Order: sequence, then structure tokens, then C-alpha cells
Amino acid sequence: MKIDGDYFEPLSSRSHHAQMSVRNSGIRIVFEDGRRTGILDVDHIQGNRDVNFIDGAYFRSNEILPSEFIRRFQNSMQRKISWLEKFSFSRMVVLLLLLVAAVILFRLAFESIESVAVSVFPRDWEERVGHRTYEKFKLLSFSDSELSAEIQNDMRASAYRMIEAAGLSRQPKIYFHSSGLLGPNAVAFPGGPIVVTDELVELLANPDEVLSVIAHELAHIELRHSLRGVIEVVGFSILAVLLFGADEGVIEEMAAIAAGVITLEGRRNYEKEADLAAIEYLSSIDRDPRHMLNVITKLSAYFCAAAEGDLIMDCESDGLDWFSTHPTNADRIAYLEEAIRSQ
Ligand SMILES: [Zn+2]
Repeated sequence: MKIDGDYFEPLSSRSHHAQMSVRNSGIRIVFEDGRRTGILDVDHIQGNRDVNFIDGAYFRSNEILPSEFIRRFQNSMQRKISWLEKFSFSRMVVLLLLLVAAVILFRLAFESIESVAVSVFPRDWEERVGHRTYEKFKLLSFSDSELSAEIQNDMRASAYRMIEAAGLSRQPKIYFHSSGLLGPNAVAFPGGPIVVTDELVELLANPDEVLSVIAHELAHIELRHSLRGVIEVVGFSILAVLLFGADEGVIEEMAAIAAGVITLEGRRNYEKEADLAAIEYLSSIDRDPRHMLNVITKLSAYFCAAAEGDLIMDCESDGLDWFSTHPTNADRIAYLEEAIRSQ
């Protein structure tokens, strides 16, 4: 089959009179001067005169294309469409896999950026964030301590001895406050300070047990748990903070996030990490790490009694750092006992 018309070069308005020669092997274009193209693949037929080739060239027939021609190449086009559909399905699978890989890579990248950001985050900025967060809490939940200066100082002295013996890199301030809102509790702010409530000191009625709680809070600071939490929330913008510095506005925003992070309980393995580090710190000054178990038992009994009449689970979901649902008190006692046994 030979069809006369004009051949338009790909991406060009140049055209040549030519003849389209259709054979079983495919389509060739034969020019007036005898030159000829290789076998061309039909992309689609437009209207009933234009044959578009895959390479972008097209041929405009002088006459309406023979129906035999259209049938043949429409069929091939339909075959191509179904092939394309199959192809795009596999392409979709490939794209989906790429997307999953990208998400995983993104997470891995962020996790490593997060750890790097935590390790290079300047300590004085962390302490500013911590101090600002403390100020916020103080305004809302802390009043002056009613404990004697002697009791406070004795507990601080043992805490600082423990900091030294355990070789901790931070020496945060330790404050005592009365707090009706928090009840018997203790909180570690990013980089310090640590706040221990009068209510906790009174409930435990044992300096070594209070020291156990302080050991746990010291571990949160040493391991930069709150800072990690803040950086997790801030995400990649932490890079901007690290590059351009933390002005008062940034410190303020991070303090607001830190307040939220501190209030969130049982983040990841932070509690377990802090518990396990605490028994090491206690052992470093020859205090019995089993004091930790007494603390958990006493606080658990206290919060359960306070939640009397509520659902049983509620007695474990009260409070800030000390008494969260994750890990449960039973879990804590179990892993602590195991760690103490293997010490
Ligand atoms: Zn904790």
C-alpha cells in the first residue's frame, strides 16, 4: 500500500512531499529523491489523514486514509494502549516502591539528623530552654517550698555527691517546690533545673528514696531526653536553629514545645532508660538501688488511692513524670528487678 502526502520532521515545521509505503514489516517514508526512512512506529492516528509516529514526526495523507490502514494501525494502537496500561501498572508498582523507599530514607535521614542535632545542640541554649520552661511551670504550678533549708540542703548535697561519683556531665540546679497541682512528683527540665515537690518528699519520707527520684531526673537531663522530644517536634527546622542561632523568640518557642513534651508521658524508652541509668547512679554512691522499687510502690499506692472509685487504670495515668501509663508500674518493677539482679 502506498499513500501520497507530506512528511513533517519531528519538532519542526519542515515538510517534504513523500510517499508512505506500508508493508508487513511496517511503515517507511520514501522521499521524491529516493531517500527513505527506516521502519517507523505509529504512535496514533489523528482525524483520518494524519499519522503520528513515535519519534514525533507525522505524515499527512493527501487523501483520506484507507479504512484498511486505519483498522490495522488502530488495532496496533489499541494493542499499544493495553501494553501501556500494563506498563503503567508496573510503573505504578515501581513508583510505589520508590515512594516507600523515599519515606524510609527520609525517616532514617531525619533520625540521624535528629541524633546529630541533639549532640551538637549547644548546652547553654538547652539550659535557656529548660529555664524558660521552668518559669512557665513555676507560674502555674509551683509555690515556695515549706521544707526546711536543712532538709533541702542535705538532699542537694547527696545529689551532688552522686553526680560526681557517677561522673555526670551536668550539674543541674535542684529546686523544691510545693505543688498542689502536681502532688508528689518530680520534673526534669531540658538541661535543668530539676524540681522535686514537697509532697513527694513528705510521701516518701526517706531521703534515699527522694535521691532515687532525683537520680531518675538526672538521667533524663544527662541523656537529653526533653531536648530530643523538642527536636522531634521541631523536625528539620532544627537545622535552621543550629545554623542561624537561637534568639529569644526561638528559645521561647522551644520552651513552649518543651512544656508540652514534659507533659507527654512515657515517651519511647525514655522512662526505662532513665530508670536503668538511675540505678547505676545510686550504686555509684553505694545507695541501694532497690529504693527505686519502694518509690514506685509508694507512688503507685498513692495515685491508686487518690483515684479511688475511678477505673483501675486511672491510678496509673495520673501525674507528670512519675506516674505515667507507659511503662506500667508492673513493667518498671519487673525490668528494674532484673537490672538490679544482674548488677
Ligand atoms: Zn521520667
